[in-house]
Amino acid sequence: MQYQPKIHVRRQEIASAEALVRWDHPTRGLILPGEFISAAEAAGSICALTLWCIKQVIHDQRIFAERGYDIPVFVNISGVLLADSEFVAQVCALLETGPAKIGFEITETAVIRDPAIALKHLQQFADIGVPVAIDDYGAGLSSLAYLKQLPASELKIDKMFITQLTSSNRDPLIVRSTIDLAHAMEMEVTAEGVETPAALALLSVMGCDLVQGYLISRPLGRDAFLAYVEEEAHRK
Ligand code: C2E
Ligand code: MG
Ligand code: MG
Repeated sequence: MQYQPKIHVRRQEIASAEALVRWDHPTRGLILPGEFISAAEAAGSICALTLWCIKQVIHDQRIFAERGYDIPVFVNISGVLLADSEFVAQVCALLETGPAKIGFEITETAVIRDPAIALKHLQQFADIGVPVAIDDYGAGLSSLAYLKQLPASELKIDKMFITQLTSSNRDPLIVRSTIDLAHAMEMEVTAEGVETPAALALLSVMGCDLVQGYLISRPLGRDAFLAYVEEEAHRK
């Protein structure tokens, strides 16, 4: 499991982190999720994989807390699992027992597939205090009708609009209006894929709340992430 920090732009501090899973394969080396998540979905093992991820995050979060860092961590949840009542029940049982600060990242496309059941399950997460972030906003299927109903507290603008923010004509317009839209719906906005100081400066002017990307930090293993967090704390 690796962790990538999300920084609060105005407060200049770590707001939360995203958990990103990797497969450390004995002969093929490090494999990124783009290569195995869809295979895990097709093979029916995404439920077990995601429960493993959540347990790992709970474990690592306890280590962060022992060092004095109370950092909410967001786990990516595949669309197929949003329709899986068994998965939702297991997750709720897992999270209701401890003081873990776990949030979920979901895509709108996942909700559009079967909105009634997905919204019911998202409401169950909201009821037990699990914050939901809408991931990859703008990259997949979008529906303002569903966006309005989602119990989400954060909107993450897809990196396809951010990596070329300062060299494109349209991306800044799309990003600024998306930030305004999210704020009107009382959501915080995260820009993912922030790679340059120029992009960060523009996002700050546009009122973007949180930034995530290689400019701030690449995803890091637990110990490297902890070292990053400690360095940030000492810098302040
Ligand atoms: P995502 O949730 O949108 O995650 C962000 C991806 O952008 C990550 O790729 C991250 O390494 C990458 N990234 C971060 N900063 C930058 C940047 O500044 N520039 C660029 N170009 N890329 C950046 P990664 O780790 O390969 O993950 C890919 C996708 O795999 C994730 O997209 C997420 O949808 C999925 N995924 C990752 N972990 C899990 C998991 O535990 N469960 C499930 N179901 N899906 C996961
Ligand atoms: Mg994500
Ligand atoms: Mg994303």
